[in-house]
Amino acid sequence: MPKKPQYGLLIDYEYCTGCYTCQVACQQEYRWPEGTSGMRVLEIVQELPKGRAYLTFLPFPTELCILCAPRTKKGLEPACVSHCMAGCMKFGPLEELSKELGRKPRMVLWSPR
Ligand code: SF4
Ligand code: SF4
Repeated sequence: MPKKPQYGLLIDYEYCTGCYTCQVACQQEYRWPEGTSGMRVLEIVQELPKGRAYLTFLPFPTELCILCAPRTKKGLEPACVSHCMAGCMKFGPLEELSKELGRKPRMVLWSPR
């Protein structure tokens, strides 16, 4: 029997604006308690000499992420993916997504298990 493909999210955080829409979309879709979500947008600040700083936003799934099984079973995109106007996230089989990792830097591949 062929092995069932495992699914995940490819997160291209280079163009993430830190708008938090993905975090809110997940919270509303599954009515997670206030302050929790299957997605959290992390804000990473790197302080450098001469008053310079780098700010990076990284949308990252939490332990609550169920990869939107109720939506994807119906052929819908995960809520976080469909609401991101910057197109930072892609859902699909890990094998396919991993091939895209080499396409450009600043991407993260995430799997729930
Ligand atoms: S991943 Fe998309 S929706 Fe989420 S904070 Fe970044 S730009 Fe906004
Ligand atoms: S895939 Fe679905 S459950 Fe996971 S973070 Fe995105 S919206 Fe939430």
